[in-house]
Amino acid sequence: MALPWLHDTQVRLVQSFRANRFHHAQLFCGPVGVGKFALSDELANALLCQNINEEITSDNGLLKPCGHCKSCSLTLAGNHPDKRLTQVDGQSIGVDDIRGISDFMNHSAAQNGNKVAIIENCEKMTVAAANALLKTLEEPTNSRFLILTTSQPAQLPATILSRCAKSEVKVTNTALAEQWLQTLEIQHFSWLTLFYNQPLQIKKWQEQEQLNNIDTLYKFATDFKQSHNFNALVDIINKQPELVRIFTLFLSEQLKQQLLQGMSFDSYQNAQHALAEFLQNNIQVLGLNLPLAVSRLAYTLRNQ
Ligand SMILES: [Zn+2]
Repeated sequence: MALPWLHDTQVRLVQSFRANRFHHAQLFCGPVGVGKFALSDELANALLCQNINEEITSDNGLLKPCGHCKSCSLTLAGNHPDKRLTQVDGQSIGVDDIRGISDFMNHSAAQNGNKVAIIENCEKMTVAAANALLKTLEEPTNSRFLILTTSQPAQLPATILSRCAKSEVKVTNTALAEQWLQTLEIQHFSWLTLFYNQPLQIKKWQEQEQLNNIDTLYKFATDFKQSHNFNALVDIINKQPELVRIFTLFLSEQLKQQLLQGMSFDSYQNAQHALAEFLQNNIQVLGLNLPLAVSRLAYTLRNQ
């Protein structure tokens, strides 16, 4: 999958590689859906490729796997013994996960080349896990590479941050994201522009057939003060609680517009406060009475 907005980051990586300045621990920071994992995975496959030096010296060469050596065929088969991926869904990354990575790094490479470990969403490491990882970061070994990704770098300990080469992964030119999304034939909605910095998130919504639901949330946010029947809204959030963040984002954008159009700053702050509280309750309160919470929010916003 070629993600054109990643090109600049890839160029910087290959430059550091050619200059022998490539750091053994790479940290990719950026929003959810920008392509940090795609970037990490391709970089890992390139570091494992046996023809990597020929690949990067070719014209416009990037850190890309050749696709036909023995190592690349193992990668393509999805079972390269020198590649290890740590991906957790929801829960935290524990000290045992990190010990597993240290063991993996300490054993010799099956293909007599590099070994690469990827830790996705590394901010999910517990304190003990982060401490265990420090040891691996502090004692770099030749031919061992660690790639970390995060959308929440502020949650990482400074000790980890300072021992990695950090790259900000972002969509620097939204036209590139827009063109890429056009090739996917994604139906255009006016609110899509809010997510051009997260193109893969839009793609995922399309695959999950969520775009129409999100459009309904957008329409509710636009007419929120005038609406009195929230059944369809409550129904969507009940079925997909994670979409409540999208709904509050839409409302927040509406409030910013109203502020520009003359809403008093006090009213704006009150409204944003009510919105933040609504979001927090949705995340933290088990068995929240959602219809009541939505009506209360609408009442508060209407009275600003
Ligand atoms: Zn190869």
